[in-house]
Amino acid sequence: MNTPKRYTITAALPYTNGPIHIGHLAGVYVPADIYARYKRLTGNDVAFICGSDEHGVPITIKAKKEGVSPQDIVDKYHAIIKKSFEDFGITFDNYSRTTAKIHHETASEFFKTLYDKHEFVEEVTEQLYDEEANQFLADRFVTGTCPKCANEEAYGDQCENCGSSLNATDLINPKSAITGNVPTLKETKHWFLPLNKHEDFLKEWILKGHKKDWKPNVYGQVKSWIDDGLRPRAVTRDLDWGIPVPVPGGEGKVLYVWFDAPIGYISATKEWAEKAGKDWKPYWKDLDTKLVHFIGKDNIVFHCIIFPAMLKAEGSYILPDNVPANEFLNLEGKKLSTSKNWAVWLPDYLEDFPNQQDVLRYALTANAPESKDNDFTWKDFQARNNNELVAIFGNFINRVVVLTNKYYDGIIPESSEFSEVDNETLAAIKAYPSVIESSIDRYRFREASQELMNLARLGNKYLADEEPWKLIKTDEVRTKTIMYVALQIASALATLSEPFLPFTSKKLKSILNITSSAVEMSWSDISTKSVLIPSGHQIGKGELLFSKIEDKTIQEQLDKLEASKKANEAANKEIEPQKDLISFEDFTKLDIRVGTILEAEKMPKTKKLLILKVDTGIDTRTIVSGIAESFTPEEIIGKQVTVLVNLAPRALRGVESEGMILMTETPEGKLVFVNPDTAVNSGLQIS
Ligand SMILES: [Zn+2]
Repeated sequence: MNTPKRYTITAALPYTNGPIHIGHLAGVYVPADIYARYKRLTGNDVAFICGSDEHGVPITIKAKKEGVSPQDIVDKYHAIIKKSFEDFGITFDNYSRTTAKIHHETASEFFKTLYDKHEFVEEVTEQLYDEEANQFLADRFVTGTCPKCANEEAYGDQCENCGSSLNATDLINPKSAITGNVPTLKETKHWFLPLNKHEDFLKEWILKGHKKDWKPNVYGQVKSWIDDGLRPRAVTRDLDWGIPVPVPGGEGKVLYVWFDAPIGYISATKEWAEKAGKDWKPYWKDLDTKLVHFIGKDNIVFHCIIFPAMLKAEGSYILPDNVPANEFLNLEGKKLSTSKNWAVWLPDYLEDFPNQQDVLRYALTANAPESKDNDFTWKDFQARNNNELVAIFGNFINRVVVLTNKYYDGIIPESSEFSEVDNETLAAIKAYPSVIESSIDRYRFREASQELMNLARLGNKYLADEEPWKLIKTDEVRTKTIMYVALQIASALATLSEPFLPFTSKKLKSILNITSSAVEMSWSDISTKSVLIPSGHQIGKGELLFSKIEDKTIQEQLDKLEASKKANEAANKEIEPQKDLISFEDFTKLDIRVGTILEAEKMPKTKKLLILKVDTGIDTRTIVSGIAESFTPEEIIGKQVTVLVNLAPRALRGVESEGMILMTETPEGKLVFVNPDTAVNSGLQIS
């Protein structure tokens, strides 16, 4: 493509059955936002589009579980997700939703057009049916054993263990997710998009046409799908939540969520254009528009095969120029998981790190899963903040601003003759916009973020080498020139950091007082203008851009994750099967009594053992108990407990233990006493 006239940039529609976490941000929304901001800064016409994906089976299942309507579920999460995006500075031109009227109309019309053009095949097939619930069981409504890997918890549309995409009827031993019943087979009619019919076009367009400019991970996945042979894919479902099928015979059926969701990009563009008084059509129908889809790798097939086949079949739309899908982000070495609460949720992050959105944006970009799955660790997050944002970027800016205020009352000094180093430095600044551009235009955001940091590094090194704080005593003229050059770097950083660190950029522009039109600069000005911030210009007072994150703060986050892990383990702990039956006589052999702990001390050189003196009512005896990891000796003195008193004594670490205290465990793995819920006398029998 020659220079595009405009950009339509889409970011994957988040599914509204929960809030979003760092994996979503790293995989899709931060890179998309960097790209959109950069395109706007370089003077392009941009439509940056997203919205909530609100149809589909999981939402109806969640609604049933919580006893509310599907609309209640999507209203709740749409609001939470939208707020997270705003909080993190994601600059969508429109964030819409697929329950919007304009979307229902657009998707319905799209389907109708394909129907009228005979682009679908109709087929009556036997589908699983739940007689009790009176409902067909597509997708997530049915679980069973995966025919490929024997995973017993595969869904009707996909096995999450081996990643196979499935049809509900493929499952072995299917079970209804609604009633648990074994489903029956019942005939139903559906419309299929014959992907096989588009195979030649897809081969030509992607395998030949985009071999060089699409990311290898994306190209490879698409190629393997096409090589496997494409099959017709149903685009309708028997369901009552979604967009009704708008043709004869469509009663009681809706568009498959994966048919309607990508059309959401189009309807969101329409909604935006209507509000902005623009024409939406060029953004989707003009060949001079560059369409880019930002997604995670789980969406590749939909954005590279199914949606393009739909657009091609419709006939009047452009196709994506690129689909720079990212791989997955893991968290501390484990797959992010909503159901296991193994995630850093954006609302939680902001609560723990208020006003530090840029730190997360930067850490996620510098370590983005661009070419392979990557790991987010809190230690790396801390290091990116302390060693780069604080020690390089923040330190440089702080020195420049503080010294300018100290030496010149905040007025940018006159420069005199430039030294060789000055000239090299000023020339280096001019090169940065195109270096960063080249990385962003190839969707290499990590590389781009490191180039930005290199510019700050250049500034830091310049000041450290020139040492204006020493020179001020001996050579005031030279000091002025050094500070002038350093201020040029600072103002270049203010603009070039905007796509990556938007909150910091705004703060820095305000400190440097370069928001007025007289001194404001565009991205390209940095390469072309000889003066970025002029002598005589007044800047403001210093203000810290970043602050050090202490080990304690990081440990708190690690502790949070550890608690999630323990809770998961406890939740997944199998309930032990019942033991063999015993007679009443067997039971009466156990002498269980209420006791009171009189003394407690740690067993020397052990982690787990406490030596207790217990009043059993019969006597005061010594019992050794493995509870030291759950209790300190002080907190249990005076506690009433349940004691098995006729257990044969045995020696533990040389201390004879006469009996056993009965305990159980909380979900987090902390031991708890089994004790009477009101005070009773020691020695009472439990029977
Ligand atoms: Zn499987």
